Amino acid sequence: MLPKENGKFVRYCKKCVMPETKPDLFIDDSGVCNACCSYEQRKEVDWVQRKVELMQLLDKYRSKDGSNYDCIIPVSGGKDSHYQVIKMLELGMNPLCVTGSTDKLSDIGRYNIENIKKLGVDYIEVTMNPVIRRKINRLALIQVGDISWPEHIAIFTTPIRIAAQMNIPLIIWGENSQNEYGGPAAAAGNNVLNRQWLEEFGGLLGLRVTDLVGQVGIKKKDMILYTYPTDEELKKVGVTGLFLGHYLPWDGYQNALIAQAHGFKTYDKTVEGSLVNYENIDNYQTGIHDYFKFLKFAFGRATDLACLHVRRGRLMREDAINLVKMHDGKFPASYLGCPLGEILEDIDMTMEEFVKICDRFTNKKLFVCDSEGNLLKDKDGNLTKINYDNVE
Ligand SMILES: [Zn+2]
Repeated sequence: MLPKENGKFVRYCKKCVMPETKPDLFIDDSGVCNACCSYEQRKEVDWVQRKVELMQLLDKYRSKDGSNYDCIIPVSGGKDSHYQVIKMLELGMNPLCVTGSTDKLSDIGRYNIENIKKLGVDYIEVTMNPVIRRKINRLALIQVGDISWPEHIAIFTTPIRIAAQMNIPLIIWGENSQNEYGGPAAAAGNNVLNRQWLEEFGGLLGLRVTDLVGQVGIKKKDMILYTYPTDEELKKVGVTGLFLGHYLPWDGYQNALIAQAHGFKTYDKTVEGSLVNYENIDNYQTGIHDYFKFLKFAFGRATDLACLHVRRGRLMREDAINLVKMHDGKFPASYLGCPLGEILEDIDMTMEEFVKICDRFTNKKLFVCDSEGNLLKDKDGNLTKINYDNVE
């Protein structure tokens, strides 16, 4: 392997295709990343025992007299939320499903939300003020390079607020993203989601909710739904969240198969920048979110997906490398068929302004530049990763 010099060479995990540029990813001396190690450890897990533990936990929280819900399931309408709902119903739970509405809901996303209801559950959809939401989308893209910042917050705060207010202590989350995608060992072993987890791994990027107050006319009263309940409020109800992925072997593709068998609709082609048609199909802004991850760290959604499939033996690593080269990190000219111009218009941004923000957040050490240090782009605006052609 070539030496890593001056940040001009990026090392990739030799088992999957994840680059070492991913935050919190660690590649050990044998060249294997912590996400792969974490996945290998799953083979040691006694899943039968874990399921017993899950049942004991659920029994503890089941409403004895049917006067309240047994748990809250935060749902987006995606494949994983379908799986969570289907599993909880199978285990005899009476859940209340809660959605903190997404940024720019796609038609297929709406269809799938309606499909969750048809699984036979009560459902609350909480919609944040769209005028304020657009302002936050714009602000977060400019300030921290993440258009989806308000969504990352809303999907956590909304169910927790409802839990506190409706006196429903148990929240059933999906997987611990730190586990499958690679994160600090302590976080990967954690099976609960609390305020500390949210602040550390929820994707807030150092921008706090309170930082927005006073900017572009945003007031404290506009941020109620984005605000985490106080410790006191949570303690009164005893709100606790568990990751279902700790108790049941988690696999997004399996979840998609089960969801589809229950009426979940997939996109009719491979999603732009992705490798598949069954995930991240509810929000037109996701293409921009994923593209900024690529600009900052030189890997995108296609890499994430390739790694998941390689670890599960469904994709050969050499094929994964080719697929990543084909699909990862393309300029997001459209997402789910919606043109970029239309998505930007929504947040009052011109294409020119957008490209400037892209360039500002691009890590120039990870992409090929010309002799004057300007980013090299093809006619479609696509960048080239350094040592792109010699991934070993
Ligand atoms: Zn790996």
